[in-house]
Amino acid sequence: MSAHIVLTSHPARGATGANASHAVHWGAETAQARGPLVASVANPATRNVIGTHAGAYSVYRALAVASGQLQRDHKPDLTDTTPAEAIGPHPQWAEPGKIVSLDPWGHLVASEFKAQIAEGMDIRPTIAITKAHINMPELVGAIAAGRLHPDGDILQANGDVKVTKAAVDPVWHLPGLAERFGIKESQLRRHLFEQTAGMFPELVTRPDLKVFLPPIGGMTLYFFGDVTKLGRPETKVACRLHDECNGSDVFGSDICTCRPYLAHGIEVCIEMAQQGGVGLVIYNRKEGRALGEVTKFLVYNARKRQVGGDRAETYFTRTECVAGVQDMRFQELMPDVFHWLGITRIDRWASMSNMKHGALVEQGIEVVERVPIPEELIPADASVEMDAKKAAGYFSTYTPDASELAVAKGRGLME
Ligand SMILES: [Zn+2]
Repeated sequence: MSAHIVLTSHPARGATGANASHAVHWGAETAQARGPLVASVANPATRNVIGTHAGAYSVYRALAVASGQLQRDHKPDLTDTTPAEAIGPHPQWAEPGKIVSLDPWGHLVASEFKAQIAEGMDIRPTIAITKAHINMPELVGAIAAGRLHPDGDILQANGDVKVTKAAVDPVWHLPGLAERFGIKESQLRRHLFEQTAGMFPELVTRPDLKVFLPPIGGMTLYFFGDVTKLGRPETKVACRLHDECNGSDVFGSDICTCRPYLAHGIEVCIEMAQQGGVGLVIYNRKEGRALGEVTKFLVYNARKRQVGGDRAETYFTRTECVAGVQDMRFQELMPDVFHWLGITRIDRWASMSNMKHGALVEQGIEVVERVPIPEELIPADASVEMDAKKAAGYFSTYTPDASELAVAKGRGLME
């Protein structure tokens, strides 16, 4: 190991063999034509992307190396790690502009780039696909209520559900991303550089590097039914696209409808799988509308302490006061995962969000039926959020008027 620090802000000169960096041809028809994405920090000369793998965890990796617990040049042994189910390739993988925020070949790295890995190159998967059984009290409740029926395969009498699940790390193709937002690539690079406090100098010094592994969370996909049916026009698909809400999803906090809607979405997915289709839950790491949980809790306090109490008419204003915006989830990038899965039509869409729906339509994905959360699943304290969202254009059969939005419906802070 060399003692000096190697700057990656300018191209390495004279690198050959396993030390040479390879050009990336984003959107090429085969993995080999596209070329491997190399983010090796131990061998900077081979890098052809900006950033590092598992970006959000790279700081922990630094601690592990600094404290002597991890070799700085450790390369993963990928034996037996290949996907438990096959996904793709689908035609969308090579259609220009369809996929800009993940690597469609990310789960196939160990097989597609086997030769390069054997030569010593550090090439890592950005997607992993495995199998699991899940169980939630709500599903047991749905069986007891007669809404779900165990079939002994997908759903057991004790509420166990068989799933395939995939973890997907973000991989951004910067020119494609800029195009999706209708901005200049240079503008995108500059603000990424500035808002990360200069964490990735290559964003401004290496315009030849087009791919960025951003230091943010990715997503987890839960599939119900036969994954290999995806991409066929006759396959019916049900989907809940869910943005992380730790307070409700994990701890059952009653200020929003997140967990109830997630559980309802899973119910809809199980039904679809039992009818021979495929159910899909997409769980995005975008806590608190991608504003983060600290901002979210500050907003809760501001909502509940304001004069006049917690009410729908000031729901978005209180968020804006703290965060400067209402939302930073940028659903524009969300449809990429459907293109990756070869999905062109969603038959049952368990979401009321007009932003999510609009992004799908914009990307040419048909939504047949929108499934709102059943009224009886909405917790009392969450009616402030629900009314505000309906008034702002969420899909529903009833839109509250101004007088109703002015009524304080949420609990006080200390209650
Ligand atoms: Zn929530």
